[in-house]
Amino acid sequence: MRRMTVLGACVVMLAGASVSTQQARGTAAPTLQSAVAALNATGVRMIKITASGRSFVLGQPATAAEPWPMRQVKSYVLQIDYNSGAMRVEQVLTMPTPAPRGGGGAITGEQRQVQYVRGAFAWNETPPPAAGGAPTFTAVPNAATDRIVWMWSATPQGALKAAGATLARPVTDGAEIQLTVGGRYPLHVHINKLNQVDRVRAWVPNDVFGDMLVETTYSGYRSFNGLQFPSRIQQSQGGHPTIDLTVTAVEVNPFVDISVPDAVRTAATPAAPTATSEKVADGIFWITGGSHHSLAVDMGDHVVVVEAPQNDARSDSVIATTKTLIPNKPIRMVVNTHVHFDHSGGLRRYVAEDATIVTHAANTAFYEKAWAGARTLVPDQMTKSGKKPMFQGVTDRSVLKGANNRTIELHVLQGNPHNEQTLVAWLPGERILFQSDMMNPPAQGAQVPPPTATITNFYENLIRLKIQPERIVGGHGNRIGTVADLNLLAGKK
Ligand SMILES: [Zn+2]
Repeated sequence: MRRMTVLGACVVMLAGASVSTQQARGTAAPTLQSAVAALNATGVRMIKITASGRSFVLGQPATAAEPWPMRQVKSYVLQIDYNSGAMRVEQVLTMPTPAPRGGGGAITGEQRQVQYVRGAFAWNETPPPAAGGAPTFTAVPNAATDRIVWMWSATPQGALKAAGATLARPVTDGAEIQLTVGGRYPLHVHINKLNQVDRVRAWVPNDVFGDMLVETTYSGYRSFNGLQFPSRIQQSQGGHPTIDLTVTAVEVNPFVDISVPDAVRTAATPAAPTATSEKVADGIFWITGGSHHSLAVDMGDHVVVVEAPQNDARSDSVIATTKTLIPNKPIRMVVNTHVHFDHSGGLRRYVAEDATIVTHAANTAFYEKAWAGARTLVPDQMTKSGKKPMFQGVTDRSVLKGANNRTIELHVLQGNPHNEQTLVAWLPGERILFQSDMMNPPAQGAQVPPPTATITNFYENLIRLKIQPERIVGGHGNRIGTVADLNLLAGKK
């Protein structure tokens, strides 16, 4: 006991009030058991949390060095049935004013999202089109991992329940309890001297980061209807904030029935991505077939692919199609329009192909750091190949020349609010421009929305660069655009 007192006194000098509280309560070093008791983790079988705050769109920054762009969370209701391993999140998001730079899609007015997970099933709810109608449910299998990890890390009680298998295990000061959730995702739970869970670290697979750290911290513990619960829950992913919630109410054991809808249970497994193509000019092909597109360009003795979106599987498909369309020529370069993860997640696959990555010079350091992490959860082909990435940075303008005299000019769009390090690929000989996230040609007769800051900036950059394309090929979209489409979208006609 004397030794405990001496130790306590030392810490008091360092950390003041919180340790004084501990001494007043006379608590011993925390154990998992003592934390379970302090936070009533056994008695809590279901929970309902009401909160508000901010969320942030992972992988959509304004520059490679900046945090993820923010959305306001007007309301956030989290319900978990721990015994069933089921969670429901209902949140209302709004766009901050002024609108933040970066990607992630604009929100007009309020956007209500209802998201579920139970076991391996993840799904979203869309409200009925008219009052009295039934909501529809859409399976989102790719969201299951993130939701499973959030279900066990959003609340301290959930983290302790997940750790329950090792209930008797003592926790030495500063140590983490290590377990896995969802069968394979590591979850490390840290308990502080006050028997509070103050931090949970988890790792999930990410196409850019590999085994990506998801860190959740809990602070401002107080009594909510007699339950010790944090008033602030913050999550970061890949080193930047993704969720910041201020808790306003906590209900213990309110009944919630989260059953997997039939439409979700019987939903077909999504097919492997397939690529289709459209010839733009001799030796130039728009590789489509999914939500994100690429451009394959025959340079005489080699091939340049512009854009490597999504993931390894998408790149497999694009590379295979490119090799069919332009046979027996190596892909020596892959151009990356911007760092956003949906446009860069497939880049690593090209390293295994020995292609040099051509990107804005500011992105190189970001990729080198992001790609240096472990990739044990889902090893990709670059990992398996053991090859090291080669980068060619663009600061303002670069020209790629082919043995067939074809040129691809790469230009930086100055000051673009979607991403300030965005490149466009201009083929002056064919007057073809490739761009991503700047414009999608509208369907015939569709109502054209007012011009965004992004398309206005794109339009002004093309004037500055004296680029007058005949065809504008996109990283998204259903058809190849024209200058008339651009003028329409930019509000110039
Ligand atoms: Zn983007």
